[in-house]
Formats: sequence, structure tokens, C-alpha cells
Amino acid sequence: MELIAALDIGGTKLAAGLVDGRGRLRNRAQRPTRGNAPAEDLLADTCDLLAEVIGSTPRLAGIAVGCGGPMSEHGVSPVNIPAWRDFPLREHLEERFGNGLRGPVVVDNDAKAMAMGEGWLGAARDVDNYLGMVVSTGVGGGIVLDGRILDGRLGNAGHIGHLIVVPGGATCGCGHSGCLEAEASGTAIARDAASLCEDGSAGATLRKHWEASGGSITAVQVAEAARSGDESAAALLGRAGRLVGKAIADAATLLDLRLAVVGGGVAQVGEILFEPMRAEVAATARLLYTAGIEVRAAALSTDAGLVGAAADWLWRTRGERPEVVS
Ligand SMILES: [Zn+2]
Repeated sequence: MELIAALDIGGTKLAAGLVDGRGRLRNRAQRPTRGNAPAEDLLADTCDLLAEVIGSTPRLAGIAVGCGGPMSEHGVSPVNIPAWRDFPLREHLEERFGNGLRGPVVVDNDAKAMAMGEGWLGAARDVDNYLGMVVSTGVGGGIVLDGRILDGRLGNAGHIGHLIVVPGGATCGCGHSGCLEAEASGTAIARDAASLCEDGSAGATLRKHWEASGGSITAVQVAEAARSGDESAAALLGRAGRLVGKAIADAATLLDLRLAVVGGGVAQVGEILFEPMRAEVAATARLLYTAGIEVRAAALSTDAGLVGAAADWLWRTRGERPEVVS
């Protein structure tokens, strides 16, 4: 069975593994991302990790990379990896590993890879028009329309995290304000929780988590506080869920989608986020064709990045959604 070497390059960690035609992962390895190191050092880390995972495996089908966005004219420029700006990652990987490959090196946005992974083996297997979303440290997305991933001019189609959901709202890393990412990402939820704690309006449980964290509370801790009944924490997640829902409804209106699949670390908090998200979608998507758009939780939680990158590779090289081999 053919094997694809998959890489998932994020702001916190680099992960790699070999994925077969059924989406099964082997030889998984990871290491921290040295995002502030010189570009060549981060490239060396990436190549070492990939070489470790490939080992003596003969003739791989290809290399599939999911990397934080955006993509630029000459390469990758991930917002959360300052080391790489306009960095020709694909060319470097081709030069180093190209001889042992039967197929191409594909480098794509990690949220697009997630969307394609969900379309291959996850929650969007039966759907041709859908949005895949990652709500995590940041917010990303990929759109499959008529069974094909939307790329756009430089490959950046689907950047739903930078739709404006709160005009005049919080400052975003992109330079604008009120973007979905600045208002509803894990980073935004944690920031808003910290300011509630600082000004004394947080509930007792949220405050306890904040104090225990030494003032650097995470979105996961906010979710824990919400689950144990803290209303201030539940309100923060409810707001984030509604804002994600608003962006989903806008995307569905623009693109005639049937489904949104939402994954990522923040989405793993579950119904506390999904319930207000679905309510907002139902309240906002009111046109004949948008009413009834479904919101599902992502199905590929473990190593979705690696399986997604492999799905992206297979989908592109075959020109159609890869079949599910059982
Ligand atoms: Zn933005």
C-alpha cells in the first residue's frame, strides 16, 4: 500500500508520520517549533524530523505538508512562525527528499488540509459543499465546493478567521480589528477571561483557575470553569460560539454550503460551544437555501493535521476525493 510522508507545521509543534491509503498513521514523531530561530534552523528541524519518520522506507508516494497560513507568492509565511517569511518550503523539501519520491511534494494551508481530511474519512464524507473550520489558538478554514477544494490566487481561500464579526472590536494579528480570530479563538477567550478576572467581574471558579494558572489562563481552563457551573466562563464560550456561528452563516450565504465541520482545540470543549453556535446559525441563516445548514464536530481529532495533509495530497494528485478503503 502506498505511503505518504505527512508533516504538520504549527506555531507550537512540528509533527510528522507516514500515512497509508486508508488514513492509518505510523512512525509518528514530533518536536517543538523553534519559530523564532533562523529560517535555516527551523528547516533543519523539519528535515531531520521527516528523515527520522521516513527511515529506510523505500519509494514513498510523496510528501504532504499542512502549514499555518497565509501562503505568499514565493512560499509560506505563517503568522505564528516569524522565522519563515516568503519561505520556499516546497522547493527545499523537493531538493532534499525529491529523489526518493514517486509523486509530488504538496504544501498547503493546514486548515484546508483539515477540511479535506474530514471530507475523506471524517464528518464531511457524504457532503460536496462544506466548510471545514479549525478553532484553536487561531481560527482557520477551508472550503470544499462542488467536491473540490477552493484555492484562490495564492492558495489562501477559506481564511474565515479574518472575517469581521465585531466591527471596531479587538485588534487582530492581521492588522485589522474585530476579526473572528481576534474575538473567538482560544487566545481571545483566554484574554477576555483574564480581563474579567483582573477587573473583578469573573465568577468564583473562573477566578480560581486564573489564580492557579498564575494569571495565564487557557481556553481549556475557561471551559472547565464553565462546566462546573461558572456563569461568567459559560458566557465567554457562549459569545465565542455565537460569533463562530455568525461567520458560518455568512460563509453559507456566500457559497451555498450544506455543512460546517468545526474542529481544533477550542472546539473540543463540546456542546458548551456548539449549542450557541448552532443557535446562531439557525437564527442568522434564513434564506431558503441556507436554512437548515448543519454544524458537525470534526471526527478526526487525533492527528487530524497529518491525516488531513495526506488527504490533501491524495485529493490533488487524483483530481477527486480519495475513496475510503476498508
Ligand atoms: Zn484578522
